[in-house]
Amino acid sequence: MDEPNPVVLQVANCWHIVEDSRRSEYALCGQKITHRGAHARLSLLGKANVCPACLKLFKAARSETET
Ligand SMILES: [Zn+2]
Repeated sequence: MDEPNPVVLQVANCWHIVEDSRRSEYALCGQKITHRGAHARLSLLGKANVCPACLKLFKAARSETET
């Protein structure tokens, strides 16, 4: 339960994690979201396919907010 499963958006052939679903303007790593075409969930995509910078920031933010 409580599996971290954020929305990921494809930008220039790389998948980036976003905080606010598909409306996000920037990915966690600072990449501007220029196309909001393809989107998925982290669990579907697999962490190996996600921008490593986004993944690192996501994990860091999550560990801070976890109780
Ligand atoms: Zn990224």
